[in-house]
Amino acid sequence: MATRFDIITLFPDFFEPWRTTGVCGRAVSRGALDLVFWNPRQFTSDVHQTVDDRPYGGGPGMVMLAQPLADCMAAISSDLLSKGIQKGPTILFSPAGQSLTQSLVENCLAQTSQGQTGQFTLVCGRYEGIDQRFIDRYVQVEISLGDFVLSGGEIPAMTLLDAFTRRIPGVLGDDASSQQDSFMANLLDHPHYTRPEVFEGQAVPPVLLSGHHGKIADWRKEVALALTKSKRPDLLKK
Ligand code: SAM
Repeated sequence: MATRFDIITLFPDFFEPWRTTGVCGRAVSRGALDLVFWNPRQFTSDVHQTVDDRPYGGGPGMVMLAQPLADCMAAISSDLLSKGIQKGPTILFSPAGQSLTQSLVENCLAQTSQGQTGQFTLVCGRYEGIDQRFIDRYVQVEISLGDFVLSGGEIPAMTLLDAFTRRIPGVLGDDASSQQDSFMANLLDHPHYTRPEVFEGQAVPPVLLSGHHGKIADWRKEVALALTKSKRPDLLKK
């Protein structure tokens, strides 16, 4: 069954190229992923379709209004109900959230494979952020892409979706390939080589041409470990 993501965003068009091409395009066309977009502007009642207002207490910038977002949530809930889908967690992208890591992605994936949920709602903030009362009432998880400030939650949402989608069984050509990626075993990936055997005077490590699968596996493990030790020793502590 498809995992459904309901995405609340003022800019659904941002997702278009990603939604229709590559790994995500394949997941959508194979029915493994269902993406539904909700624009808060469609849940306003004034002629200007206002979704933001000035902050109480003054200061620069605008704040996203709670009401259009709450109305989006109500519409999502009733759509899910009409389709017999149980509502899952609501995730807000925010610099104040927990860091997006592979283990967080694996946790989302485990929730779907263990049947805990087949649905996530993603909320993309804009402007100075969202009225805190909406967050307090509707959001269960806050996720940050890192210690920097982006203009909106759309890139973090696409990042989570992409990392999630490539881990859905059957979506990549070979499921083993994502199992061997960086972070899956708290290691960085080993280096990769392809033709030609010599490129600008640099030869491929001879073991890779030996045809000896055991030795190749050992070499890859050793190199991955050495690389992790030198570039990301923090991973080994895990
Ligand atoms: N005033 C906010 C602050 O200083 O924390 C920044 C607001 S930012 C301009 C607008 C929106 O972009 C946020 O509400 C959030 O949804 C998203 N965003 C910005 N940086 C992010 C990050 N590092 N991780 C996740 N989302 C982020």
